[in-house]
Amino acid sequence: MKTIESLGDLQGKAVLVRSDFNVPLDGQRITDDGRIKAALPTLNALLEAGAKVIVTAHLGRPKGKVNPDFSLAPVAKRLGELLEAPVKFAADTVGEDAKAKVAELAPGEVLLLENIRFDPRETSKVDEERQALAAELAAFADCFVSDGFGVVHRKQASVYDIAKLLPAAAGKLVFKEIDSLSRVTGEPERPYGVVLGGSKVSDKLGVIANLLSKADMLLIGGGMAYTFLAAKGYSVGTSLLEEDQIEAVKGYLAEAQEKGVEIVLPVDVVTAAEFSADAEPIVFAADQIPADRMGLDIGPKSQELFASKIASAKTIAWNGPMGVFEFATFAGGTKAVAKALSEGDCFSVIGGGDSAAAVRQLGFDESTFSHISTGGGASLELLEGKTLPGIAVLED
Ligand code: ADP
Ligand code: MG
Repeated sequence: MKTIESLGDLQGKAVLVRSDFNVPLDGQRITDDGRIKAALPTLNALLEAGAKVIVTAHLGRPKGKVNPDFSLAPVAKRLGELLEAPVKFAADTVGEDAKAKVAELAPGEVLLLENIRFDPRETSKVDEERQALAAELAAFADCFVSDGFGVVHRKQASVYDIAKLLPAAAGKLVFKEIDSLSRVTGEPERPYGVVLGGSKVSDKLGVIANLLSKADMLLIGGGMAYTFLAAKGYSVGTSLLEEDQIEAVKGYLAEAQEKGVEIVLPVDVVTAAEFSADAEPIVFAADQIPADRMGLDIGPKSQELFASKIASAKTIAWNGPMGVFEFATFAGGTKAVAKALSEGDCFSVIGGGDSAAAVRQLGFDESTFSHISTGGGASLELLEGKTLPGIAVLED
């Protein structure tokens, strides 16, 4: 994958950067600026190199129509504060205002273009439509830097087509994401443990299939654990169960045995009578779940078991919360896994939107993990072993 350095001397050059500024908004207020912060290393490097920096990004799902609710104007303001430099803002993406502001941009300055998804061609399934938009963007710049990790799994004009029109490279965020995620999908240091949770097995079939052949142990928690417990013949009460996946799970259990991969399932679970934040939690052994209760977290013995397995590993990939961490009563399992990871000295990668949110929400210091992915869908597709269009195009 080409890096920014491969683009040569950037002094006075116009560089178009695709960033991921898809931040949560409450009206005009940005409630979490993590994605803007994640974009800073690349933008600062380009500014230091003396480039004219033009940034394109999307916000929300405006569905190809101009909609002020999804304007990037609040992002321009916050980006300026974080860069400690003024950020210019174009009121359109490739229209008259963008053209005029690109023309007058000076080296060392930043211009943010309005939401690229106001233009229906960005996400069009018709190649020619996307290519036409990409050509209009390409006319603004001498080269392209792809740094929106959250969108690299999308074949879109500002992600994929643009990289075919200009000299293109991966930005620092995309480089770090690929570097970290490829360590857990390639040749990890062993023992290698994969911790999987989240709501459904069916969302994670691709991840299980890909990592089962690479891991030394697979720790299963979260909602998906109940389909595994059911596959072993246990009753799971009213827990989340995907009956139609039991056969698939039996297949994984057999494959694991054949390959010598250890499967670690919860030995106890924290149950509730209903799915509610203030339901009374009662712990049961995993093979003793009452018919009228649902498992909403892994129990204390399982937490200890999972923590000790994690402590024995040199590499850990974690995707999916161990329980309904949004309810404080059922966040213990997710907290225990995060704690074990942050205390261990293994190489640890956390992928998945809710998993990353859980670690932050539970107050863990992000720097104690080797890598927390900024892209939910993109990180899952990498864990599934897929080739992402926005990455492949940087390798050509
Ligand atoms: P990620 O976004 O990290 O890939 P998922 O989207 O697969 O994770 O799963 C996250 C969701 O799984 C959370 O909202 C959490 O509440 C839910 N979840 C975890 N354990 C359970 C459970 N035992 N029962 C129901 N939902 C669960
Ligand atoms: Mg999710």
